[in-house]
Amino acid sequence: MRVAIIGAGPAGLFVGSALALRGHEVVAVDRDSRPPPGHWARPGVMQFHHAHGFRPQVGLALKREWPQALDAWLAAGAEPIEFDVPGMGLVRAGHRSRRDTFERALRTAAERVPGLTIGKGHVDDVVSSAGRVRGIVVDGSPVAADLVVDASGRSGHSVDALRAPASLGGPCGMAYVDRQYRLLEGAEPGPMSNPLAWQGDFDGYQVLVFLHEQGHFSVVLVRPTADAALKDLRHRAAFEAACRAIPGLAAWTDPERAVPVTDVLPGGPLRNTYRGQRGRDGRPCIPGLVSVGDAVATTTPIFGRGVATTFVQALQLLSLLDGEPDPALVGEPFDAWCGDNMLPWVADHVEMDRDVVRRWEGGDVDLTRRLPSDLILAAARRDPRIGPATGGYFSMLELPACLDPVEPLARAVYETGWRPEFTPGPTRGELRDVVAGALRKDERTASRA
Ligand SMILES: Cc1cc2nc3c(=O)[nH]c(=O)nc-3n(C[C@H](O)[C@H](O)[C@H](O)COP(=O)(O)OP(=O)(O)OC[C@H]3O[C@@H](n4cnc5c(N)ncnc54)[C@H](O)[C@@H]3O)c2cc1C
Repeated sequence: MRVAIIGAGPAGLFVGSALALRGHEVVAVDRDSRPPPGHWARPGVMQFHHAHGFRPQVGLALKREWPQALDAWLAAGAEPIEFDVPGMGLVRAGHRSRRDTFERALRTAAERVPGLTIGKGHVDDVVSSAGRVRGIVVDGSPVAADLVVDASGRSGHSVDALRAPASLGGPCGMAYVDRQYRLLEGAEPGPMSNPLAWQGDFDGYQVLVFLHEQGHFSVVLVRPTADAALKDLRHRAAFEAACRAIPGLAAWTDPERAVPVTDVLPGGPLRNTYRGQRGRDGRPCIPGLVSVGDAVATTTPIFGRGVATTFVQALQLLSLLDGEPDPALVGEPFDAWCGDNMLPWVADHVEMDRDVVRRWEGGDVDLTRRLPSDLILAAARRDPRIGPATGGYFSMLELPACLDPVEPLARAVYETGWRPEFTPGPTRGELRDVVAGALRKDERTASRA
């Protein structure tokens, strides 16, 4: 089978390599350049240099389908970690790695896969005839294929003329900014909530620290998009002042402990989106075309799910292609599987993130509807019967509905008037003052110079 893949990000490289290793003839096309020795600019993926954590599904999928890429990732420094999950004991918790380290390893390994060609170019369109997709158009030139895989991520538009728009989600009301640091030689990490990250839930905003490989870590500040004043966190002086003012971050970013290795990286609004395989013409799928990865399901990074959902989808797509001689027929069963297994995660994030933003703006826990998952998880601190049910949710080995049986227990906790405590640190109003003060000081210093 001849396969053309739009995009050579994690989805495109993984699916492309696995299909080529099965003996198919695969061409993957990406508008971004291959990794150079130094800084890899990646304008096609806005989150490329931002914080990433990698769930165990990622390493397990690589081990199963493409062990050479896992070896390359480990050789590049990725650190496997373990996690004590309530009710499940010690389980694999994924890998500490920067996204750059991960994708460089994948790309390098992919370039050695026989039968896979990775080209640079812009996929402008797909070629169709007799109701079936038959290839892609790269910078004006057609490339014929029996199957086109759309692995173009959340911002790809090359199949928009054929594919129905997203059926769920959109911007979730949160925006973020982050920066990468590295621990100094011999320095211990700062506070951790689990082996992958530290999470601080403050009055009106959230802070995450993702630990990557070899002492690298990212500091992420998440705020309501509507809080325009906190947009100024993108300025270095403001970001550094905020880090000093938030006790957990002050510990992580103490110059005695760590040095920044990037400037402040403005992120922008976060999204949760689900887009199935349905055609614009109402057909349940577009024969000859299948979308995978972020092109199907995108969730906010708070739980670090995106690459895991991408690879789990890819495994399912590969297994359907293994059993179906006509690739035009996989779209419909893949769509049904994604509807059952991916859509619930997006729907869970849509509900949860919307409610987090509402509570950041002063709203109380809403007991008139099902509690969002984060509140069920938080209530486990008060009722120990809830904890054992949360392992499947945290590990993504079960769907979010696994929390349904303990939702009434969590509800009973909130009905007593108990509320999760904020992490000690400034409120959002106080953080705005810190940011404004830092910028004023910075301007005064600049005008004196
Ligand atoms: C801020 C942020 C933080 C995140 N943190 C995590 C995390 O901690 N853990 C996690 O697992 N996930 C995380 N994610 C999600 C993760 O980044 C995505 O799930 C992942 O990038 C999906 O891979 P993909 O290959 O589907 O898409 P992408 O990585 O977006 O790759 C798509 C590729 O297609 C190319 N492309 C698009 N259109 C065209 C075209 N017309 N022609 C040629 N090429 C094209 C692009 O250049 C790009 O290379 C995060 C996301 C964000 C936004």
